Amino acid sequence: MSAEKRKKRLSRKDSYKYMTRLGWDTTYQKEDDVYPELKMEGIKIHDWDAWEDPFRMTMESYWKLQAEKDKKLYAIIDAFAQNNGQQNITDARYINALKVFITGVTPVEYMAHRGFSKVARSFKGEGAAVACQMQAIDELRHFQTQMHTMSHYNKHFNGFGHSVKKYDRIWYLSVPKSMAEDAMTSGPVEWMVAIGFAFEFVLTSLLFVPFMSGAAYNGDMATVTFGFSAQSDESRHMTLGLQAVKFVLEQDEANVPIIQKYLEKWLWRGYKMLSLVSMMMDYMLPESPTSWGEAVDIYIGQNGMALFKDLEKYGIEVPTDMINTIMAEKDHLSHQLWKTFYFHSAAEGLHAWLPDEKKMNWLSEKYPESFDKYYRPVYEEFAKHDKGNGDRFYGETLPCLCQTCQIPLVFTEIEEGNPYVYSHKTTEYNGEKFHFCSDACKTIFTDQPEKYVQAWMPPHQIFQGNCGGATMPEILKWYKIEDGVDNKDYVGSEDEATWNNLKNRG
Ligand code: FE
Ligand code: ZN
Repeated sequence: MSAEKRKKRLSRKDSYKYMTRLGWDTTYQKEDDVYPELKMEGIKIHDWDAWEDPFRMTMESYWKLQAEKDKKLYAIIDAFAQNNGQQNITDARYINALKVFITGVTPVEYMAHRGFSKVARSFKGEGAAVACQMQAIDELRHFQTQMHTMSHYNKHFNGFGHSVKKYDRIWYLSVPKSMAEDAMTSGPVEWMVAIGFAFEFVLTSLLFVPFMSGAAYNGDMATVTFGFSAQSDESRHMTLGLQAVKFVLEQDEANVPIIQKYLEKWLWRGYKMLSLVSMMMDYMLPESPTSWGEAVDIYIGQNGMALFKDLEKYGIEVPTDMINTIMAEKDHLSHQLWKTFYFHSAAEGLHAWLPDEKKMNWLSEKYPESFDKYYRPVYEEFAKHDKGNGDRFYGETLPCLCQTCQIPLVFTEIEEGNPYVYSHKTTEYNGEKFHFCSDACKTIFTDQPEKYVQAWMPPHQIFQGNCGGATMPEILKWYKIEDGVDNKDYVGSEDEATWNNLKNRG
């Protein structure tokens, strides 16, 4: 009996083809029952095989590549820990940006993992399903590598514990949480536009690039490393997001207005969530390489705009009004948010502080139109109550939130030329009044009121007795914030003492 000759290995191209072009049709169940989400959005797909994936990643090459990246990352974070890398950061104020990250961004990575797993199951085309499945695994990896990297800081500083519970409970973290859950509860194509396109393609550079260069600037090599490790996945994710949008637009003209709506909704929701990043960039990094305003110019004004222009040939209109609003608000966003965070820091899982003279001069230089006129005086007034006067006042009232993006109504009518007037829109639905931060958030609500009336609004939940009690200590306990340890001013905190100790010993 002669041994059978060993079959030749499949080429990469063929093995990708056999994995993604199965051409299976349902036989003993109806297609609509097997893929119940395919038609819910009114999207029409005629030919799944038209799906093109420029990366054509096979399982074998995927696991090999990712394992390489993880090996490198863990070698570096090990070295960072062994060399007490925490001593080399510029200042422990910086650590608070990581606290925002681990409670506000890392859990969203996990949601992205869940969302892409779900969408992978929803699509009938195997090419699309496989690409989503790989992204789902990437997102899980991002969650894990971020947790592992930042766990080092947890050994030395306060405020890192219970990060996922905090994401579920704390008022300002309902901003990213509500955004992620809005996307998760959408149809599969809306998910792809929300995360794959708006977030990965248009907005990720606003989050990762400035934040990671900020980490590098402030000596945090551990964060820089996970940032780069994730960034290399991002290029695949961006391609997938853009590919998904173009594929759907090409399939049927009827898809164009649906996609247009999704694009505008998710550009806006993503932008609103990134206001947290504006504050990190301008105030929380002791040394800032780039201002939020500069980043918006590049990533929204130029890159984002070019991207939308590229979609014009498919019938998509550039959301010029929305982009103009974002551009108009760029000189104000971070200042309005940080003064809110400073004022309310008794109810936050991080420390706040006033910008020092050096930082204020930097802000004046970066924001010549707005900082000295509107915001320096506010910080100077705060400072009168801050420096050992013993009357530091922490806001403890519950703010009114936007029903859509869940950000307190702290932004003003910049575009209308009224920077002193809070932007506040309202509408009625079923005899109840709802509040919004902007016209765009109001439009998102009125398009799908039954979805947003269900929003879990932190102040309402507190009033209804669902957050541990009615008093600050009870609520903080439920938030997993240790009063006097995790919250309030950086000056005088245990973190500050730890840092001074480290520096004196070094
Ligand atoms: Fe990710
Ligand atoms: Zn809003």
